[in-house]
Amino acid sequence: MIFTILILAILWVFQYFFLQNYYRSAKQRDMTVAAKHLAANADSEDFKTLINETAFKNAMNVKIVDDMGNELYNVNNMGSFSLLAQDKFGTKQFELIGKYNESGEDTYSEIISNSDFKVKEIVLVSGVGKGYYLIIEASIEPLDSTTRIIREQLFYISIILFELAFIVTIIISRRLSKPITELTETAKQFGAGDYDISFTAKGYAEVDELSNVLEDAKDEIKKVSDLRKELIANVSHDLRTPLTMVKAYAEMIRDLSGDNPVKREEHLKVIIDESDRLSNLVNDLLAISRMESGNMELNKSEFGIVEKLEDCMTRYKLVIEQEGYDIQYIPDEDRTVCADPEKIDQVIYNFINNAINYTGEQKVIRLVQKNKHGCVRIEVTDNGQGISKELLPKVFDRYYRGEKYKRDVVGTGLGLSICKEILKKHDFAFGVTSTEGVGSTFWFEIPTIGEKKHSKRQPKEKDKDKQPEQIDNNNTLQLGEQ
Ligand code: ADP
Repeated sequence: MIFTILILAILWVFQYFFLQNYYRSAKQRDMTVAAKHLAANADSEDFKTLINETAFKNAMNVKIVDDMGNELYNVNNMGSFSLLAQDKFGTKQFELIGKYNESGEDTYSEIISNSDFKVKEIVLVSGVGKGYYLIIEASIEPLDSTTRIIREQLFYISIILFELAFIVTIIISRRLSKPITELTETAKQFGAGDYDISFTAKGYAEVDELSNVLEDAKDEIKKVSDLRKELIANVSHDLRTPLTMVKAYAEMIRDLSGDNPVKREEHLKVIIDESDRLSNLVNDLLAISRMESGNMELNKSEFGIVEKLEDCMTRYKLVIEQEGYDIQYIPDEDRTVCADPEKIDQVIYNFINNAINYTGEQKVIRLVQKNKHGCVRIEVTDNGQGISKELLPKVFDRYYRGEKYKRDVVGTGLGLSICKEILKKHDFAFGVTSTEGVGSTFWFEIPTIGEKKHSKRQPKEKDKDKQPEQIDNNNTLQLGEQ
């Protein structure tokens, strides 16, 4: 509305106050141009025709007079309105010619008026040859009626503009201000910790986009908040259970089995196991928080993959011999890779430990090396119960543990998320394929050295957290680089 008022004010000022002056100076300018044109063509044969034309076109009175005031030629287009024609003795004309001569300019012009008839006109005098003068007269009176018409128009324009401004204001407020106010209100509720709100305000495309972005941000924050709650619940549960056990068994030793070496041994074993479980949990939590806060340093070096995998296998000799597991390494040709060897050990151990924990009765586990173009793929396959399609995307999540395994199997639910952080930091592709009842394959790919495709590529800053995550119909979860 203020904008409209401003525009109207400018319009009124110009039309009302300056129009007359503007019109006069424009008219004067036209007359000067016409006079100069005529003066320049004074010698031409068509001079008279030219005078007629000019006078007719501009509705002017044009005449040529000599020193004595005798008219040599006169075209009167103004009829009886010509003030000079009414000046019987030519006094005014002589006066104007005098002023022209005094001025020494090319032209001289003046506004003259007759108060009886309220007529106003501009008279312009210019010299044409020696002793001859060109006098042009033009009325400026029609301007009054023009101004009246313009003012009337301006009045209607003002009304239309006000109405338009009102409509535009309503539309803008509906489509811009209102949704933004709504968004602000919702954001306030959200800030106060209410995650059940939703950013639904709609308006212009930009508002829609803002709404969508806020909605996405809310979803993410809600997810993190849920995860945090779940994590605290899980951690406190898993801390409390071993602590209760430790306390209970310690009391049992104090009150009952203290003197019975066999029983005491048994109870002490439970205490030690539960303490191990506690320290594993705390260690994993520390490791994951360190990794997630970006404090993980990679000590990369080059090594042969076959030797590394064989090394890993030696760790499982005891499990193979004593517990009857069939764990085998199926190698391919040796390849040199560049990675942090200790961290890669950690990933492989985690995969194999999980396979041992979750494999089926046949206890078959395979560590497979597959050389591919530009990289080595390492797979750990078991013949356990597999992972359902719904749970597959969650296995790499922090603190996710399959329900049915809780507490039967020693685990913290953090192993795979530690692997994920390590592999993400290396920028290696990794994933899992699983079929329920058949088994699972956890895999990752290390680029080989010297190959173009994966030549020591560092992740771009903005890509770091962006992990492509896909699950296809074969129950395959694929994360990270390809
Ligand atoms: P945990 O300490 O419980 O093993 P992980 O992060 O290593 O934690 O694994 C998370 C969950 O993923 C496990 O609790 C289990 O449900 C599932 N999982 C991991 N590996 C396998 C596997 N080889 N077979 C079936 N389920 C698995």
